[in-house]
Amino acid sequence: MEKNIAVIRGDGIGPEIVREALLVLDKICDIYGHKFNYTEVKMGGCAIDEFGEPLPDSELSKCIASDSVLLGAVGGSKWDTVPGHLRPEKGLLKLRSGMGVYSNNRPAKIWPQLASASPLKTEIVEKGIDFIIVRELIGGIYFGKHETYDENGEKKAVDELVYRESEIERIGRIGFETAQKRNKKLCSVEKSNVLDSSRLWKDVMHRIAADYPDVELTDMLVDNCAMQIVKDPSQFDVIVTENMFGDILSDEASQITGSIGMIPSSSLGATSCGLYEPIHGSAPDIAGKDLANPIGTILSAAMMLRFSFDMVEEADAIEKAVSKTLDKGYRTQDIKTKGATDLIRVGCREMGQLIIDNIK
Ligand code: NAD
Repeated sequence: MEKNIAVIRGDGIGPEIVREALLVLDKICDIYGHKFNYTEVKMGGCAIDEFGEPLPDSELSKCIASDSVLLGAVGGSKWDTVPGHLRPEKGLLKLRSGMGVYSNNRPAKIWPQLASASPLKTEIVEKGIDFIIVRELIGGIYFGKHETYDENGEKKAVDELVYRESEIERIGRIGFETAQKRNKKLCSVEKSNVLDSSRLWKDVMHRIAADYPDVELTDMLVDNCAMQIVKDPSQFDVIVTENMFGDILSDEASQITGSIGMIPSSSLGATSCGLYEPIHGSAPDIAGKDLANPIGTILSAAMMLRFSFDMVEEADAIEKAVSKTLDKGYRTQDIKTKGATDLIRVGCREMGQLIIDNIK
């Protein structure tokens, strides 16, 4: 099979982790006889430096024309002082809305080999951590109007949070369908005790629940959910929530699984052209030091094969290679448990190579 993949290396550790993921995909091509054509796309700080904006339309067009997009991460303190509408993260928002990828799927699953890297107590981890956060990605407060202005002698800042029924319904249905393929439990997370947008969210979720009688729907306020994720994560199967709540809860969920560097994500809309990226940022504190964990990006590439290209066997092969590498005790610094003498610390490049060597 031949596929065209737009590749956004981005800033900070982005180029290091994407390099390893592409080498893994090359190995998949060698074994399974596929051809992946890579188109380089500049987005984020590097695009600001080159074009004066974080994602020019010409770069976005390359992504829309591809079969899928693999992204590292963008951002860094160098661009902290650029005007708000030109910040690296604006490129990310433009990419997501330009591709129409409204459904972000973030698994929170603990690898048994990393149980001791979780900050949670052993008895909580042993109950199991395996859930998915389905996050609405192109609506809500990140896409509302943002304004700061002077009023009565002081500055006032306003961020607008908008959700339409249709936006809630389409992500809600993804939540139900995801639960149908798993343990049939869906937890809808909102803040309906305070926000109108959340009350609408809850109403829509309960209306469409009638179409999924096999799924048990529960509601949870976002502040309670933040507590429950650390108190008893085993209670969750699928969480569906709006953009900002999903952003925050998925970072929290990543930590209890050991490291943010392990977690991949997929973002899909109406077509099979998806956006695949690790959930972490550009980690400027470790950039260029060969310290980054490339596994979240490598697993994102596996998700691309599974969900956009229907290459299930190939995706399985990558995931098994990651598991085998962890089994053998290899760890990047973020997942190496302090004091463990049986574990072998490796850098980003070596971790990538070990995973490649374990792909059969
Ligand atoms: P971050 O996720 O980049 O880093 C948080 C912590 O996790 C850091 O200590 C970092 O070293 C560590 N970490 C992250 N990824 C890792 C990996 N693969 N291996 C090992 N350790 C890893 O979050 P931040 O520091 O808040 O943000 C840094 C920059 O990234 C900011 O400019 C932010 O806006 C941007 N950002 C980008 C994205 C994206 O591109 N999707 C997402 C979040 C943040």
